[in-house]
Amino acid sequence: MLKAKITKLTVSDVRFPTSLEQHGSDAMHKDPDYSVAYVVLDTDTHLKGFGLTFTVGRGTEIVVCAVKALSTLVIGKTLEEIVSDFRGFYRLLSNDGQMRWIGPEKGVIQLATAAILNAIWDMWAHAEGKPLWKLLVDMDPRQLIRCIDFTYITDALTEQEALDILEKANKGKQQREDQMLKEGYPAYTTSCAWLGYSDEQLTQLCSAALAEGWTRFKVKVGADLQDDIRRCRLIRNMIGPENTLMIDANQRWDVTEAISWVSKLAEFCPLWIEEPTSPDDILGHAAISKALGPLGIGVATGEQCHNRVMFKQFLQASALQFVQIDSCRVGSVNENLAIILMAAKFKVPVCPHAGGVGLCELVQHLILFDYISVSASLDNRMCEYVDHLHEHFKSPTVIRNARYIPPKDPGFSCEMLESSVQKHQFPHGEVWRCIQGPKHSPIM
Ligand SMILES: [Mg+2]
Repeated sequence: MLKAKITKLTVSDVRFPTSLEQHGSDAMHKDPDYSVAYVVLDTDTHLKGFGLTFTVGRGTEIVVCAVKALSTLVIGKTLEEIVSDFRGFYRLLSNDGQMRWIGPEKGVIQLATAAILNAIWDMWAHAEGKPLWKLLVDMDPRQLIRCIDFTYITDALTEQEALDILEKANKGKQQREDQMLKEGYPAYTTSCAWLGYSDEQLTQLCSAALAEGWTRFKVKVGADLQDDIRRCRLIRNMIGPENTLMIDANQRWDVTEAISWVSKLAEFCPLWIEEPTSPDDILGHAAISKALGPLGIGVATGEQCHNRVMFKQFLQASALQFVQIDSCRVGSVNENLAIILMAAKFKVPVCPHAGGVGLCELVQHLILFDYISVSASLDNRMCEYVDHLHEHFKSPTVIRNARYIPPKDPGFSCEMLESSVQKHQFPHGEVWRCIQGPKHSPIM
């Protein structure tokens, strides 16, 4: 199977009109249409690879264009050529002499890189007949290390240190894998409290979630302080003092504003404030962390952190207390391995960002790997879950007792139902034909 040669790359602009009901709304993204640039790799055998990157509507066509621009670097290669020197292939994609100018390793070009590399990892896991998490867990630590580009991070994590972390975690690995298969990985829910939801909706969703066994809840904040106080009080009263509350401002504030605003929400004991300010402001996050630490509130960020180099600086500057990896923002599994290992070195828990379209499906593999093969800890660790759009996937996430149950199907859980892809193709799919308006018009 590794001999399979990639013969074709197809990329589709697939969008879901979530803005019509305010699903996914937050302080900065008031009307997202959850979307993906969806990649299918065909080979000269029956082996295929499926990958995606997440967007929130307009602009997906720019990501699609970037995927097409990178496709020439992929077509004609065998899976074996790629995975036997995965570090080299990662660099080939991220360091193309001309295209790196529109990155490097950030923004649209990095989202496109993620979509393609996610498809390669999916193909590799299919070729090995394993779910991706199991492929990673079973891989020799030296081979894992050879998938990572250590460029620009060796001042924080050397290859030898990464290897030491993986080898140290060998102890107890089998028990942790058995435990995950039996119990699953702890999750929290963001589905109850999007910013555009009414108090009635909040109350109804929160009581339904409590009845389903959820114990960790995230609330969107940042548009209006009095609204935030009312909403946080409502949720805290419903969930009681023993359950966990997190708040998420989606980059809404300047640094001093973030400190004063969140201080006024401290009475509701949030575990973390997520994305309090610009995702690029490392020193700002450090100042917020320092100010809110004494109140028992940590800072969480990462869903819009471009790459491993920025995560390195966040960790070095003690600018975050929770690392939120994202399966589609950075350079796929390769770069997330680097981030997971750096987080382990700095002893900061990884609590992945998920939701959107397919982010839960993908990132569950990475957090299972983190627990089984790296961190060996569940302290203050949990993976985000949002109950939207899973029905469009061939192997949707399975949640039981508010935990992610490890996927069993081979691959990276990226494959979407062909009927869903067709119906939601933008702008000509059935769903989009009857939706009009400027934000629903193609931009190119
Ligand atoms: Mg968030």
